[in-house]
Amino acid sequence: MVKVDIKYTKLFINNEWVDAVSKKTFPTINPQDETVITQVAEGDKADIDLAVKAAVKAFHRYSEWRLLDASQRGRLLLKLADLMERDVKYLGELETLDCGKPVAQATGEAAWSAQIIRYYAGKADKILGNTIPADGEVLSMTIKEPVGVCGQILPWNYPIPMFVWKIAPALAAGCTLVIKPAEQTPLTALALAALIKEAGFPPGVVNVIPGYGPTAGAALTNHPCVDKMAFTGSTEIGRIIMSGAPKVNLKRVTLELGGKSPLVIFNDADVEKAAQIAHRAAFANAGQCCAAGTRTFVQSGIYEAFVAKAAEIAKKRTVGNPYEDVQQGPQIDNEMFTKVMGYIQSGKKEARCVAGGDRIGKTGFYIQPTVFADVKDDMKIAKEEIFGPVQSILKFDTFDEVIDRANNTNYGLGSGVVTKDITTALAFAKHIRAGTVWVNTYEHVTPQTPFGGFKESGIGREMGEEGILQYLENKTVTINLPKKPQM
Ligand code: NAD
Repeated sequence: MVKVDIKYTKLFINNEWVDAVSKKTFPTINPQDETVITQVAEGDKADIDLAVKAAVKAFHRYSEWRLLDASQRGRLLLKLADLMERDVKYLGELETLDCGKPVAQATGEAAWSAQIIRYYAGKADKILGNTIPADGEVLSMTIKEPVGVCGQILPWNYPIPMFVWKIAPALAAGCTLVIKPAEQTPLTALALAALIKEAGFPPGVVNVIPGYGPTAGAALTNHPCVDKMAFTGSTEIGRIIMSGAPKVNLKRVTLELGGKSPLVIFNDADVEKAAQIAHRAAFANAGQCCAAGTRTFVQSGIYEAFVAKAAEIAKKRTVGNPYEDVQQGPQIDNEMFTKVMGYIQSGKKEARCVAGGDRIGKTGFYIQPTVFADVKDDMKIAKEEIFGPVQSILKFDTFDEVIDRANNTNYGLGSGVVTKDITTALAFAKHIRAGTVWVNTYEHVTPQTPFGGFKESGIGREMGEEGILQYLENKTVTINLPKKPQM
């Protein structure tokens, strides 16, 4: 086992490390061997209150933060990106400890996250309004202003990228933040908070409160001084936030939720290449991706050849100690492990299991990469989000049939198509109801391109230009200006 130094386990409020008001702590568990890594301060309503007060103060019109030039906000973000790159190895190792993902992947995610910060750093002084030829003897313009104090609730599947997706556009816009990381993975969020302080962000601009959802998360959601909530996680909790947050003060809400994304492979595809794309779509991050391509639709002409290839690739997938050179580590925790194994049992009863189907070892939350063939639309494994290393392969005959079936879900996050025919690809992109369409690739996500969902997969977009707009208010200024000056 790699020894990783854990430097921060307290709450981060006003650039200080403090215990919870209650003095309570909670354990964070190593998914490799189910041992307690460390105890972390457990934030609750009183701590959220202190953090929100700090964020409100930091948002005061004459605060150090608000008096910065926009370009200076950009420079602070660039400094933060540099510090993340300096510590990229440490951040990767810490992430692997808390979250179980392979260390090369975790390190890559930390490096990629620094790039996202750079993208938004460049946007800080390019937030432009309009001048408008309004009716009457006036000159009108719009000014884009930060939305204010933002609450941000994070999931455990990509702790560093999700932290950065939330803070980078919000800080570029000039907001102040209270962040609640997932209870399963608080450690890298606290390490990043230390870098935020080191970069020189003024006190109160970013506050990080580890804790549980129904306590700390709910207190943040329902706080009257929070102007906006941004959440990534399950559709179930997204619904709670959507119904709770605006009740108090009509705060803005953006949501990044679950999915059951289709990847559609047509007869003209190269079977080997398509099976590799589909494998990555289903198994990346041990299947713990909101946009995972978990419904692999394959046209009947290549169906059996594809199933054989998909099973072969899955059987070769390396699963084990995430500090070694493997493709897959353990699932995040016992709850998710049990849930995923339940879906696998259900799949074994209804469909044809052609790879995997069992746990690996007796301790740690390791699961074999599992592939089901002959999956039908009404099976549980085809309908519900599994969030584990499980691929379901379905057969189709015609374009219209597969579009109807692929769209027949309450979700609409990701989607993909594999074909050599540009017209098929563009027709698919036109008719599929999802926030992203990948053509001959999958889960290629960049800082420049917006990401988010149709239907129950979410509200709003992160990344790209759209990502920063979610943290800005529009103010219209109309100035009296006679058409014929009386001078
Ligand atoms: P979750 O939605 O329960 O938790 C996500 C975050 O919300 C955590 O920080 C949690 O503490 C917080 N939270 C929980 N209850 C809350 C409440 N009442 N008020 C405010 N915040 C609250 O997700 P999970 O339990 O970690 O995973 C369950 C399912 O969520 C998974 O099976 C998967 O389907 C889905 N999931 C989706 C994503 C995604 O990126 N879309 C990420 C993680 C999990």
